[in-house]
Order: sequence, then C-alpha cells, then structure tokens
Amino acid sequence: MAKTYKQIMDEARRLVPEMSADDVQRRLAKPGATLLDVREKDEYRDGHLDGAISLPRGFLEMRVEETVPDKATPIIAYCAGGTRSLIAARTLKEMGYTDVVSMTGGFTAWKNAGKPFTQDHQFTPEQLSRYSRHFMLPEVGEAGQAKLLAAKVLLLGAGGLGSPTALYLSAAGVGTLGIVDDDTVDLSNLQRQVIHTTGRVGEPKVDSAAETIADINPDVEVVKHQVRLDSSNVVELIEPYDIVVDGLDNFPTRYLLNDASVRLRKPVVSASILGFDGQLSVFKPYEGPCYRCLYPTPPPAELAPSCGANGVLGVLPGTMGLLQATEVVKLILGEGEPLVGRLLLYEALGATFTELKVRRDPQCPICSRDPESITDEEMGVFPDYEAFCAAAG
Ligand SMILES: [Zn+2]
Repeated sequence: MAKTYKQIMDEARRLVPEMSADDVQRRLAKPGATLLDVREKDEYRDGHLDGAISLPRGFLEMRVEETVPDKATPIIAYCAGGTRSLIAARTLKEMGYTDVVSMTGGFTAWKNAGKPFTQDHQFTPEQLSRYSRHFMLPEVGEAGQAKLLAAKVLLLGAGGLGSPTALYLSAAGVGTLGIVDDDTVDLSNLQRQVIHTTGRVGEPKVDSAAETIADINPDVEVVKHQVRLDSSNVVELIEPYDIVVDGLDNFPTRYLLNDASVRLRKPVVSASILGFDGQLSVFKPYEGPCYRCLYPTPPPAELAPSCGANGVLGVLPGTMGLLQATEVVKLILGEGEPLVGRLLLYEALGATFTELKVRRDPQCPICSRDPESITDEEMGVFPDYEAFCAAAG
C-alpha cells in the first residue's frame, strides 16, 4: 500500500530517536560519535558543525558503508531543519546501523542557538569547475584544494627544473608562487625551459614566467624576485614561504640554501640534473637529513654540475621538475610518503629509478645543532670554500 509523506515521517519518528542541539553538543564533547551532515554540498560549504562528514542524502546508501564501515558506530545525523536527517537515519537503521539519532531543528536550530560552526573555503563557480578533478580525490577534496590555494611556495630558478614545476603547481592552484631568478630568457634555454617562449627572448625570466602562469590560472599570485640568491638575501627571501623548491645549478648556493632553510625550518624539495641523470630528495629539517648530511663537502669545482657548461637532455628537467611538483603537492596536503631521508636517482637512458636511504649525520655541522645557533656568518660556508670559488672562477 502506498504511503503518504506524513506516514513515512511518523514511522521514521517511531524508529529514530531525536536529539536536541543542546544534547548533541553535550554528546560531541565525548569522543566516539560520527557526525553526518546529509545536506547538499553547497549547504555544507556555507557552514557546518565542526568535524561533520559531508554525505548528501542522495549519496547516502551508496557511500555510507565506505565512510562508516562499523555499523555499531554511534551516528548523529543532521540536515538543515531535521526532516531529511530523520529520513536518512531511518535508512541507516534499515541498513543495519544500530545507534543512529537525528538532530531536531538541524543546522538552523544549532546556528540560531549561537553554537560554534565551521565555514569552509568558499570556492567560486569557476574554481568548482577548475578543480573538479581534485575534488573527486578523497586525498585532496575541497579541504585539500583550500590548502593548495593558501600555500606559498618559493621556486629558486625559472629554468629547466623551475619551468615544469611552475606550470603544474600553478595549474594545481597553489595560491602563491614566488620566483627567484635574475636571468633573462636566452634562445639556448628554450630546449628545456618550457615556461618561456621564442617571442620572449631577452625578457627577464620572472616576467616571462609570470605571464605564462597568469594565462594558466588567474588564482595564482606570482611574486617576482628578480635577484640572485646570496647570503645577504637568503633568509629574507625564504622566510615568507611554506616550501622551497630548489632548482639551483651550483653547489655554493645549495649550501647557503640548506643552512638558511634548516635555521628557518623550511622544507626544501631539491632536484638536480646532469646529462641523462637526475636526482631528487626532500630535505625536511629535523625530520630527515639535510643537504650537508648527504654532501658534507662539495665535489671539485671542475666536476660540479652546471647546466650552462654541461649538456642536458631537454626532457630530463621536465621529468625531475614534475617529480618535485608532486612532492610539493604532497607536502601541502600532508598526504603520502614524501621523499624525506630518501634519494631518488633517475637514469633516463636505461629508464631506471633507484632509491637510496639517507640518514641524518649526528655530526652534521648544521642540522645537529639548535636552529637558533646557526649564525648569518656561517651560512653557506663550507670547507675549502675559497678554493672552490676560485676554481669555479
Ligand atoms: Zn645535516
């Protein structure tokens, strides 16, 4: 026999206990309950109870067993006014969930009672479309995308490694990208520095990169630092950023960056390339080794890689730069296993990846110490620095 709406609601009320906003607040003060918001996504985004899982009524049956696998879990369901959650709770009971209640008056009653709630990042319709493939991944979702948009990443160099990294980080919606580069675009760069174009030869690389990024994603703010990284500006440059991406091509600057990033506790995603070989690691101060733990002394200057003097396969920085971009995104999201304490070697001719474990050196001249004790004077200094620089010319 067909049921009326009223009959359905009466049945639901008989089956499902209801709880007032006050009782829900008291219950939530104790651990163990799962809070389910069964409203539509846009209602949830406008404001929801802290810690509530968004599971719109239309997806309830399909997704709840994945979201709450244990059917004995206490569930508090709520909607805007208390009706949809009552019907949802009834369905949950039918599915075998044993401890389900519905909040009377819903979010409206909660909010009107002046109780605390959370308002998520408000995405524009354009952003909802632009980042829709991220929203489909539970590891990113709207919360992760909000983290990406709030993140500040500093790229050291808009060259071979910095180009692909900047392209993909801007496409992914990393909200602030600082770019440090004092160079201008040269025709010989274009074989690998794909953020620049033939028409921009002679322009500053920071301007050329900013122009490309603006075309890709207007959400990204580019901060141009048209300077050379040195001991006088390193601290000031990296301080405002969350993560540093190292695409540097010389050892002295790498030591300088390392020492400053350890002092400021900034993670550095570092890659280097030479010929057909690339290597990659994440230096997260005090959680894994630093660059000096790995390379206590630099190689002789004549062997130190520099892309100007040495050949490099044009696509290789693309591969390594995108691995860097991936590590950056993982660090921002707090997902996955970053390459901390691991050195990844890529050999393009053989198409092989090799991973080496690297450990913190308890005798490391930098990261074995208290960060506050690292002085300006010793940053970037290493044994035989004078000889190294003299040999490098
Ligand atoms: Zn160290």
